Amino acid sequence: ATIKKVKDRGGSAISTLTADDHERLNRKALIEKRLVHALDRKNLQLLYQPQVNLLTGNVESVEALVRWNDDEIGVVTPDELIPIAEESGMIHEIGSFVVETVCSQLRDWKAKGINMRISINSSIREFRDKDMASKLIEQIKATNCDPHSLTIEITEKFALEAEAERPIMQQMNRLNQQGVQFALDDFGTGYASFRYMLLLPISSLKIDRTIIQSITKQEKMQKMINGMIQFGKSLDFQVTAEGVETNDQLELLRVMGCNNIQGYIVSHPMNTEELERWLK
Ligand code: C2E
Ligand code: MG
Ligand code: MG
Ligand code: MG
Repeated sequence: ATIKKVKDRGGSAISTLTADDHERLNRKALIEKRLVHALDRKNLQLLYQPQVNLLTGNVESVEALVRWNDDEIGVVTPDELIPIAEESGMIHEIGSFVVETVCSQLRDWKAKGINMRISINSSIREFRDKDMASKLIEQIKATNCDPHSLTIEITEKFALEAEAERPIMQQMNRLNQQGVQFALDDFGTGYASFRYMLLLPISSLKIDRTIIQSITKQEKMQKMINGMIQFGKSLDFQVTAEGVETNDQLELLRVMGCNNIQGYIVSHPMNTEELERWLK
């Protein structure tokens, strides 16, 4: 990339930004601006991806995944959106939107006789708001939802930081005492620590899709995944495999006794109407 020299305001110092940096900063500023607009108009959407219980074959829960197709900038994927929202602080508003949407969805399904749990994804930054747990409990109660129907997925990185931040752990415990479950997302991708598995109120492990997708490729990987499943189950965790795409993967996971699977082999994430049709 070409190097542009940018003179600092009022100083003689020279900082160097590449053309790529400029483009990234512009894109980021644009996303932040459009996100304020989108949140105002509730222009974000949630899709739901089924999680199948391998023993019963039933879908007992779905994961809510945020989608954003902006009028001006088009589709912004969660992988681009979430880090920017975390940095700018707008992750709190996204979180509120998700909880609000999910609670009313749970209530709607309950009225229709659909017994379903929903998992949502949370960033650690949301838990740094010291009123997060109270607000969430209030939101759940206001919509007459059962807190037991809600699972919060946290990443290993989140768990590692939470273990060192007492107030975050306390909020997790408060939510858990009310019935909210916690799942460890992307398990096996980097920050696994046995300490936080003991300390945090986690009840399930989700083995990351990059690991699951190598299950049929390497014998050693197969043994490792089997080990992860037995390890999780022996500690009374529910074990879910993410990103299951093929029948071979599914069969191996079944033999290994994995509790739940999620992935394109079952279904892509769907909107409410698609999901309800799919369930029938
Ligand atoms: P995640 O929580 O690990 O979600 C699973 C991701 O894998 C989703 O990507 C899902 O669409 C994708 N996926 C599911 N099955 C398959 C499969 O069989 N093959 C492949 N290749 N992919 C599959 P998505 O929706 O793009 O979300 C990416 C990440 O963004 C999520 O990873 C999660 O960490 C984050 N995210 C999504 N929605 C939210 C949200 O509302 N709040 C927060 N804080 N983070 C979110
Ligand atoms: Mg997740
Ligand atoms: Mg995951
Ligand atoms: Mg992921």
